[in-house]
Amino acid sequence: VATAEPVLAGLPLTAPARLSGEPVARAALWHIRKGLYAAVAGARPSGTTALLEDVAVPVEALAGTCAALADLFARHRYADSVIFGHAKDGNLHFMLNERFDGGEAPARYADFTEEMVDLVLGHGGTLKAEHGTGRVMAPYVRRQFGDELYDVMREVKSLCDPDGVLNPGVLVSDDPEIHLRHLKTVPTVEEEVDRCVECGYCEPVCPSRDLTTTPRQRIVLRREIAAAEAAGDRTLARELTDAYDYDAVQTCAVDGMCATACPVLINTGDLVKRLRAEEHGRATRAGWRGAARRWDATTRGMARGLDL
Ligand code: SF4
Repeated sequence: VATAEPVLAGLPLTAPARLSGEPVARAALWHIRKGLYAAVAGARPSGTTALLEDVAVPVEALAGTCAALADLFARHRYADSVIFGHAKDGNLHFMLNERFDGGEAPARYADFTEEMVDLVLGHGGTLKAEHGTGRVMAPYVRRQFGDELYDVMREVKSLCDPDGVLNPGVLVSDDPEIHLRHLKTVPTVEEEVDRCVECGYCEPVCPSRDLTTTPRQRIVLRREIAAAEAAGDRTLARELTDAYDYDAVQTCAVDGMCATACPVLINTGDLVKRLRAEEHGRATRAGWRGAARRWDATTRGMARGLDL
């Protein structure tokens, strides 16, 4: 702390740096750090995909890598990006928002990724630190590990999976452009859920997860319906819409448990409540609004009705 404080005092920070061993103060600082993802992902423009990366460099190269990354964001016009991570491990996460529904986006993203890979490997870093390689970094595994090691990885993979049926295109792939295929587009659907990043944190807490669908699936299905309609596939859109009523709307408990786990604070129940309300005519809604205002009398009347 004694060594860090004078260094921190000389940095151009927007607020003075606070160092604390006090659990409450530490928890408050962690709250800000963990909220960065939610703040940026939740505020991204509707229709864009949030992309999160996970690289690591030797600690002595960390500051230079951050500065160079910020420069890359500026050059490729990723204005609302954010860098965070675990400084003591040289581990950086950064997030950028991209619109993949046409235009110059895939080419811009491809150029950015090439330069980012050169930057990280040039600093003696690794393209994945604590998360899986997946598809986006698959074309660069050979570049990071070299031909000999990569060929060993391929051999192990083909011994375990000779027909290549396990996770095709993930981690080990012969396609140099695998990271630009099957890009997830996020059509604008409903204002209550458009900021969903499909992370799935809400799924374990949802009471309907083993019955029909989870909050994530309820949102993804709305997006699939919108995508099918946009593509003119009316049969698929109708099929999904028909199944949606029971699988998503009727079987949601609207208890808001999803909002307790969601990093961008989505309560899928809000969407479901609106969809349920829209199923009814104006007169029915007015009737129930009136009943809600006199709920005591309503329940007494209902009880009498049941007695009868
Ligand atoms: S927790 Fe669920 S609703 Fe929230 S962003 Fe993740 S998938 Fe979407």
